[in-house]
Formats: sequence, C-alpha cells, structure tokens
Amino acid sequence: MTRIRTLPPALVGQIAAGEVIDRPASALKELVENSLDAGATRIEVELARGGTDLIRVVDDGGGIHPDDIELALANHATSKLASADDLARVGTLGFRGEALASLAAIAQVKLQSRPPDLPLGAEVSSRAGDLSVAGAWAGPSGTQVEVRHLFFSVPARRKFLRSVTTEWGHSQEAFVRVALSRPGVHFTLAHDGRLVYEVASALGVLDRVGLFFGSDVANSLYALEAERDGVTVSGYVGDPSCDRPGPSLQYLFVNGRWVRDRGVFQAVQEAYAGLVMSGRYPAAFLFLGLPAGAVDVNAHPAKAEVRFRDRAAVCTLVREAVRSRLAAAELTARAAGARKVKPADQGPVAVVPPGREPPTIGARRPDQTQPSAPAGPPFPPSPSGATPPPATVSPPPTAGLFPAVAAPPSSAGVMAKMAARAMQVLGCYLVVEEPPDRVLFIDQHALHERILFGRLHARLAAGRPECQRLLAPEPVDLPPVQAAVLREHQDALADLGLLVEGFGGGTVLLAGYPAALGRQPAASLLRGVADYLAEQDRLPGRDQLLYDLAALAACHAAVRAGDRLTDVEIGELLAQRELAQDAHHCPHGRPTAVVFERRDLEKLFKRA
Ligand code: ADP
Ligand code: MG
Repeated sequence: MTRIRTLPPALVGQIAAGEVIDRPASALKELVENSLDAGATRIEVELARGGTDLIRVVDDGGGIHPDDIELALANHATSKLASADDLARVGTLGFRGEALASLAAIAQVKLQSRPPDLPLGAEVSSRAGDLSVAGAWAGPSGTQVEVRHLFFSVPARRKFLRSVTTEWGHSQEAFVRVALSRPGVHFTLAHDGRLVYEVASALGVLDRVGLFFGSDVANSLYALEAERDGVTVSGYVGDPSCDRPGPSLQYLFVNGRWVRDRGVFQAVQEAYAGLVMSGRYPAAFLFLGLPAGAVDVNAHPAKAEVRFRDRAAVCTLVREAVRSRLAAAELTARAAGARKVKPADQGPVAVVPPGREPPTIGARRPDQTQPSAPAGPPFPPSPSGATPPPATVSPPPTAGLFPAVAAPPSSAGVMAKMAARAMQVLGCYLVVEEPPDRVLFIDQHALHERILFGRLHARLAAGRPECQRLLAPEPVDLPPVQAAVLREHQDALADLGLLVEGFGGGTVLLAGYPAALGRQPAASLLRGVADYLAEQDRLPGRDQLLYDLAALAACHAAVRAGDRLTDVEIGELLAQRELAQDAHHCPHGRPTAVVFERRDLEKLFKRA
C-alpha cells in the first residue's frame, strides 16, 4: 500500500502550470495580455528558436509597484480581482493570477518593471520556482519579462514540444490573434534577431488582416455591424470566393479576447449556405461585445473559451448579421450562376452504385415532405423518346477536362455519341440513359474528381513524381501555423514533387508542383495541402500522403457544381467513366452516380 502525502510546492506549481502554459505560444499570449491589461500602447515581442529558448515581452504600460514585484510571480496573486463579485464582470484579459507563477515554476523568468511615476523600479527572477531576492531596477518605465528555456525543469513536458518551426508557427498565430484584437496598439514581433511583423498602432483590423494574410484576403472582406439587446457584433466577412478548405481565416473575439467557439462559426456557416460548397469555410473576423454578466470568461484555464448566457441569441445575431451583409453585397443573386454554388442541398436520392440492388427512391430524404418527388424543378420536358439536344461535334478544346493527364484518347465520335445520350440538369448532374432499362444521375464533380484521382494517384505512386518547376516561384500567403507545417514537411513534400521554399512570416514560395497534376491553380492546391497537414497530428506515411495529395488535387481540378459543361465535355466525362475502374465513388467515398431502374420509375408513376 502506498501512503498518501502532500506534494512539495514546487511540484504542485509544475503540475498547475501545465494547465495554463502548454507551449511557447501560450506563454507569449499570457505575457502580451498582461501588457494590454497594464494599458500598454507599444508591445515588443522577441523570440528565439520559436520561443523555446527565449520569449521576451517589453511594454510601456503602467508597471508593477516595486513592493509587489515578488508577489507578481506568486500563485493566485493578481491586481485585477478583489472579490467574487469582480469575477462576474471581468474587464481585463487576465484575472486568475496564474500565468507568471506558472512560468516561474517551469522556466527561467526575469521580471523588471517601473511604473511611470516612480524614479526607480524593481526586478526579480526565478529559476524553476526558486525566487531571487528582489532588487532595484532603473530601466525605462513599463515592464519587461524574459522567459528562457521553457520546461527546462520539467523534462516530461519538454518532450512534448514540437520542432522549433512548429512552435514558431504557433507563436506567430498567438501574436496574430492578439494583434488583431487591439487596433490602436503598436506591436512588433522579432524572431532569432529578425523583425518579422511591425504593426503600427494606426493600422485598423482590415490593415492588420492584410498584413497577416495578404491583401487578397483583405480586399475580399465586407464590413458588418449589428446590435440586439445590448449585444453587438462587428467585423468582416469574406466574399465566398475567398473560402478555404479549413477554418484558417475564422477569428472570433469576445469583449476583446480571442476565443474559439464552434457555435458562432456554425452560425456563420449557415449564413453562407448556398454560397460556399460544403467542406469550405468562408473568412470571418468577428468581434462580439457583450455586457458583463452576459458572458462568463472563466470557463477555461487558458481562457480560450467562454460561456454565453444566451448562446442561441448570440448565434442568431451573428447568423442574421452575416446573412444580411451578404445579401446587401448581392452575393445571393450572383451566386445563382456562379461556380461556387453548393449543389442544391440534395442529400443523395439513392446511394447505390450502378449494378447493385435498385434503390428505394426517396428512402434517404427525411427532409422531404413528399419523399417520392425529386427535389427542385420538375424534369425538363419530354425526357422519354424525345430527341436529345444535338451534340456539337467540335474538336475537344485544347485545355479540356483531362489536360496534362493523358488518357487513352477516346475518339470524338464516341464522345459525341455519349453526349447525345446525356444532358446536364440543375447545373450539376448529368442524366444519362443506359439502354435498355436504366437512367443514371451522375454528379459531375464527383465523377470528374474520381477519374482525375485515379490517374493522378497512379502517376504519383508510379515512382518519384516528376516536378514541374515554376519559372517565377509563386508567393502564397498562409496563416503562420500552416506556413510552419509546410516548412516542417518540406522534404517529404519535395519527394512528392511539391517544392515549397523561401519562408518569411506567413508567406511561402511555391517553386514547383507535381507535373502529374497538370495546370491547376497551384496556390489554392498548396493552401489545401497546408490546411490538411496542419490538421494531422503527425506526418502521414508516404502512401497516405500520396493518396491524400492526389485526392486534394483531383478535387481542386474537377469541374464544380454549377459549371456549365459543353457537349464535348459531357461526352469526354462519360467516355472516361466507361474506361475508369471503380468509378462508383469519389475519393471521399461519396457516390458518383445514382441509378433509376425502369421499375423504379414505374413505381413512381404507379404503372407497376
Ligand atoms: P493575472 O494577469 O491573471 O492577474 P499574472 O500572473 O499574469 O496574473 O500576473 C500577475 C500580476 O502581475 C498581474 O495581476 C499584474 O498586477 C502584474 N503584471 C504582470 N505583468 C504585468 C505587466 N506587463 N505590466 C504591469 N503589471 C503586470
Ligand atoms: Mg495575466
């Protein structure tokens, strides 16, 4: 039997510290928040090796009284709260009195501070919880905190630090969040002796977005502002064309504090229904203002989440504000014929690939009041026996649907014949008669994606993929974490023929791409790759990487719902379908086609 004992204070401190500080980025966040709470208008951040060796924050704020300097490093010591009542209306970013104490327990910390109205300040340092005697300090007014060798005293924790590049990415992200949250404050970020960001106080949110994410993003934003029952929302939402494969351009600030919140972004996503495809995320930089008492900020040790008293009301406000802003920009109308229309929220009528059991039509349409009726407008007139639209037999355009990936050529004659039996409906489906007894509904995007995927994957997997170098490397702006992750996997990506180089801030240079991918908007493909990699816990194996890269590239290159196809293109697509093996599902597992048997139709028309 093991006896119970009280833990030594140093160990308690180290355990507790893990709650607040889990990597250099969280230390950076806590220190900068302290500077903001102290009313600083200028905050300089300096890192070495991503923050793992050094994090130094210098501010021009109100400082710490020399008599309190040791207290600042003590646990549960804060100048920001006095009573439980205060907790209900916290107006500062910090209030738990844990950050400096946590850092002092797990790193080497030096704290120097002088309030502007005192001639002399004080300094104190700590090494893994051992406090030095405080001394006088005659530095400039404001506060300077230096944190060296994070986790040096907690080897178990230190092991969890990722590479310097990854930590640097996270640290930049922490900086970006706080710099976005406070226009009016001057911020700088330097890394390994190099100035990476200088954010002048005069720069507004939009300028800051431009600085961090590139002018393309900033130029595609619409400002919005709304209020209801004392709750305000303001900020910017992006044009649907500026969507991303992940939520990398979605930022939420509640009462000036960056937080994550699925519910609020779900509301944003709902406002974009029909404007972005599923699986794509619009840009949104939103600032919520709530009266004290309407939100609880003490819901998470790192204060990264909040609890809303009336979450539904907040989400409704956001959804409606975003929706009416998009409507004012006339995006709803524009989207009707645009590329990015989400396929009418169909939900597959039937998901059985051709050749299997005939589906029960409508079985999967719980949202339909008349389950047996096809969604959307009625079928185009006289599909049965009527002359199909004449196929224009022109030579395939030079950049057809299957450009760089040469396939066994299908003759123009075959293609024309195929097209003659098919028509495009609702902007995204091909209806094809398969004599004698079947009609296929083909999802044009899913099928094209599937065929491209099969070829790309085969080519990529066939050996070391050939790389197509760009004459002038293309700069791509990315969120810092993603830039970091690309850099970390630079070699593995180069093995696949994807050359990424020249990293500075959040910009990377795309120098080459796998020739097998053909001509594609390479920058958006790279964004997809970065997004995908940033979501992985560790680098996927080569096979997985090849598969995913091929799937991503195929998805990017494939025609979209809403793209009008020429008869030649339709013919090409159908001919390739015949040639492809297992064209039944796209790489994501969605069906490419659903089938109606004659008897399904007979049942529908009560002929049976
Ligand atoms: P909290 O921010 O929750 O109060 P911290 O551990 O982060 O707890 O800081 C403890 C205290 O040290 C703060 O309440 C504040 O009084 C003081 N302090 C920390 N950093 C600064 C700073 N940059 N300028 C002025 N005071 C500071
Ligand atoms: Mg604090």
